[in-house]
Amino acid sequence: NRRFALAAHPQGLPTPQDVRLETGPVPAPGDGQVLLRTLYLSLDPYMRNLMDEVGPVYAPAVPLGEAMVGGTVNRVVASNHPDFKPGDLVLGNAGWQDYALSDGSDLTALGDMAEPSHALGGLGMPGFTAYVGLLDLGQPKPGDTVVVAAATGAVGAVVGQIAKLKGARVVAIVGGEDKRRYALDELGFDVCLDRRDPDFAAQLAQACPDGIDVYFENVGGEVFDAVLPLLNIGARVPVCGIIAHYNDKTAPAGPDRVPLLMSAILQKRIKVQGFIIFDHYEQRFEAFRRDMAEWIGSGALKLREDRVDGLENAPEAFIGLLQGRNFGKLVVRVGED
Ligand code: NDP
Repeated sequence: NRRFALAAHPQGLPTPQDVRLETGPVPAPGDGQVLLRTLYLSLDPYMRNLMDEVGPVYAPAVPLGEAMVGGTVNRVVASNHPDFKPGDLVLGNAGWQDYALSDGSDLTALGDMAEPSHALGGLGMPGFTAYVGLLDLGQPKPGDTVVVAAATGAVGAVVGQIAKLKGARVVAIVGGEDKRRYALDELGFDVCLDRRDPDFAAQLAQACPDGIDVYFENVGGEVFDAVLPLLNIGARVPVCGIIAHYNDKTAPAGPDRVPLLMSAILQKRIKVQGFIIFDHYEQRFEAFRRDMAEWIGSGALKLREDRVDGLENAPEAFIGLLQGRNFGKLVVRVGED
């Protein structure tokens, strides 16, 4: 069994040395346990926060020397659990390793799902995040201007496509020309800007002549700076993530801008709301599953995956994710089915 353990807390952007590849025997399942072989490992931005010494408030940090955590699609290899049998395909949390044990409580049967890796992307946690954040918190109305960055990524691509389905005008933001073309030609967004263009803020103002009604916050940083002056009275800002800051070691340079932010929220009556998707499964996952199945089945919504081969390549792929090198939902193919 191979696994990546956390070797050091990253100082800024993680390096390959912050995780360590270890090999050991394949574990044997005890009473009530299931032995899982990982087929696909999901790589997600939140993992960066779990690598810090003090983790985020919503989840425990990964202790040094322990396996990196992560959502996975697994094949059951052996089972001492009444609900699972060898050969079953399940969604689990095996982390960055070939094999893992589970007591079954965190497993979801996937049946004979055609594209099981989508259970880690558009049909799973990131897609659900887009659905709840946009529809429940963003509440787009027909004709609204919706702005979303990382707009070809796991969450952002679904946000933009659902916004289009709801009749909104979508102004997408991405890093790079290949992503920009894809957002316009394949995803059908109305405008797509490159956040790295020197005059990006001016381009955004020009692309939003009626202001911004919904800003789905995925990134923070310079994108948020450009968005803030354009927000309309009564705008909604679901705060999903601020990936531009996950590697920050110090406070940003320049003057304190909190008063500017707070007075904009006050004067324009902006609704800013953070959310963590774990809270919403019980209430909303069924509706999400139903709607997504319909949208994907009818071709109204497309999913793009960025698939990397081999567990050994997970660290580089993860570092790339934090720099925008992924193009679509990032998954690692760990084992042959
Ligand atoms: P993505 O597939 O979108 O990949 C991350 C993307 O972020 C990159 O491809 C890049 O896109 C963009 N990015 C990276 N660095 C920067 C930067 N410095 N400034 C601006 N953009 C940057 O990842 P996900 O869809 O999985 O996650 C998107 C966001 O949603 C993250 O902030 C994540 O933490 C958050 N999230 C929150 C959840 C919640 O429960 N609240 C659940 C799931 C995700 P590009 O090159 O196009 O700019």
